[in-house]
Amino acid sequence: MEIQAAVIYHKGEKFKIEPVTLDEPKAGEVLVKMAASGICLTDIHVQNQEYFFPLPAVLGHEGSGIVEKVGEGVSTVKPGDPVVLGYAYCGKCQACLSGAPFECERLILHSPRKPAIESAA
Ligand SMILES: [Zn+2]
Ligand SMILES: [Zn+2]
Repeated sequence: MEIQAAVIYHKGEKFKIEPVTLDEPKAGEVLVKMAASGICLTDIHVQNQEYFFPLPAVLGHEGSGIVEKVGEGVSTVKPGDPVVLGYAYCGKCQACLSGAPFECERLILHSPRKPAIESAA
């Protein structure tokens, strides 16, 4: 399906809001119809490559919406559920166990790998 996304191709450039192709949810993934989303400081750090994250990338990892579809093995949410989205965290490292998942030691490992961007622009 085609969606609108905030895409960045090169270090330091402005985000481009453009159509991209989104695959159906794979195992462990959830498709959410977004009601609201935003760009946070973490995305700005990625924009400036102060946090390494392979480019090109679709940024904006926070928001809220309604679950539309779930991939194989997903049991914690179902279509129709309202959800709030945040960054991925492991739930097992010292930071997570101390109530600071925003400092997860495995944050990047749990983030999506280099996304395949098929720009329609
Ligand atoms: Zn954030
Ligand atoms: Zn963690």
